[in-house]
Amino acid sequence: MDSSDILSLCKRRGFLFPSYEIYGGVAGMYDYGPLGSTLKNNIMEVWRRLYTLGEGFIEIDSETVGPEIVFKASGHVDEFADKMVKCTACDEAFRADHLVKGLHPNPDTLDEAALDKLIKENNVVCPTCKGVLSSVEEFNLMFKTTIGPGSGRTGYLRPETAQGIFVNFPNLYRYNREKLPLGVIQTGRGYRNEISPRQGIIRLREFNMMECELFVDPEDKTWPRFEDIKDEILTLHAADGRDLKISVEDAVNQKIICNEVLAYFVWLTQAFLTSVGIDREKLRFRQHEHDEMAHYASDCWDAEVMLSYGWTEIVGIADRGCWDLSRHAQFSSSDMTAFKRFETPKEIDKDVIKPKYGALGPKFKNQAKAIGAAMEETDPSSIKDGIVSVTVDGESYSLGTEFYDIGRMKVTVTGERVTPHVIEPSHGLDRIIYSVLEHSYYMRDKEDQTVLKLPSAVAPIKVGVFPLMPKEDLEKVAKQIDMDIRYSGIESYYDSTGSIGKRYARMDEVGTPWCITVDYQTLEDGTVTLRERDSTEQIRIEYMGAAEIINAVLCGADFKKFEVILDKN
Ligand code: AMP
Repeated sequence: MDSSDILSLCKRRGFLFPSYEIYGGVAGMYDYGPLGSTLKNNIMEVWRRLYTLGEGFIEIDSETVGPEIVFKASGHVDEFADKMVKCTACDEAFRADHLVKGLHPNPDTLDEAALDKLIKENNVVCPTCKGVLSSVEEFNLMFKTTIGPGSGRTGYLRPETAQGIFVNFPNLYRYNREKLPLGVIQTGRGYRNEISPRQGIIRLREFNMMECELFVDPEDKTWPRFEDIKDEILTLHAADGRDLKISVEDAVNQKIICNEVLAYFVWLTQAFLTSVGIDREKLRFRQHEHDEMAHYASDCWDAEVMLSYGWTEIVGIADRGCWDLSRHAQFSSSDMTAFKRFETPKEIDKDVIKPKYGALGPKFKNQAKAIGAAMEETDPSSIKDGIVSVTVDGESYSLGTEFYDIGRMKVTVTGERVTPHVIEPSHGLDRIIYSVLEHSYYMRDKEDQTVLKLPSAVAPIKVGVFPLMPKEDLEKVAKQIDMDIRYSGIESYYDSTGSIGKRYARMDEVGTPWCITVDYQTLEDGTVTLRERDSTEQIRIEYMGAAEIINAVLCGADFKKFEVILDKN
């Protein structure tokens, strides 16, 4: 099996269609068909529930287009670039690091000069026409646009959903009643003008993300639920090259993963990925090497899966420190801090503004007292060029040194303002979908028949319902069962055409875990067959309770317990 088998199944059975296919398609763009959309929604829902219901995080839905300043602050306008070479003969563009994959253990860590050297020394040529390659240059991946008419309104499509969360931090912190930790999730599209997208939906120009930004106290990177999972085993590929199977606790104690919070979210990512159908044996977490990591990050782990394309990153989990909030504070002049309450209030010496009432009185008469009070409230750090600025009753006053002294006094403070640190698990949904499909795909022994062993939670169709023959009395019962199941909120698929074997095969191929068949016996004793996808085992159940039984088996009940034992006499 290789990626072409998966992609051809996806096209044939309505999971994925190349976008704009009737116009020849566009590289790096795919549409999700009916089954693909449902699979995508189901995977997203498992993730959403894990973070909102499981962890108590909140969800937002922000704009996908943003003004330039947002992405200047985030660094994307100036820094978000890949290294590109072009063929001097056919003009095709390539990612330089991809062309030298076999020639260096981690080409991601190389700069332009090092990549150039590697390409020249190894006589790497254009993979398409064998032409000579240009020197390596940077190509910015941001999609630029304008917001409204007129100049000076440059905007960009977001390259990740994260910035929408960061810029909303003051609103979200207030919503969370000014408490840390604060976990916020967002799902939605990200846009990157990839240089030469290949590999199906692994590298897209418009892709689906599921991101979590967890804001924590910079001094406290412990996690309350760490205790519950500390003995779980992770498969790690550390930056020093070691491959380890190690408990979450040992990974933190041995300083392989830098803190409890990051380790917890590495584990949560593993739990999520395996629950939606990623093969545990083909999943590892690879630590970024020092020169591969963004300069502000203190530790970063990629969830990688083994695919027919090789090890592929599907989730990135990073401790981003205070970078994001500090940058937006700097560019927007907004307060992006959180208030950290001390366990017991502290007495500190503090600089204060002491108004000179002797000078204020004659000048400001009956306003002098109010102006003095406003000056006392003002932080001396806001004094610019010796001028204290205050507003009293809507009137602004600028007061020079003749109106105040700076003094020191003891004050009791209950806490301090800190810029929270951010732990970010960032999931590429399309890559997860592809990986789930590839890891679920197998050929049934001795039969030329494809099966997707999708977990029930993500399978787009949960049950197929068939009349054995296209006969009115059988169809009537089968249609009733199909409707009962759909009305109970479960995706069911009615099919009356072709042999029963073909109908089972069609359901197996799209990962439907259960099938119900109405036959002549149904008309006599009210039972139908229930078939399980993976074992192909069949039992008889009562058709009147079929919807409840399907609900129970989808929730994990043993299907055998619903078997009706028939009296053979
Ligand atoms: P990043 O912000 O680069 O760490 O990306 C977060 C996740 O998005 C990655 O782990 C990938 O799963 C996914 N991703 C990044 N770029 C693309 C792309 N061009 N197409 C599809 N998925 C992507």
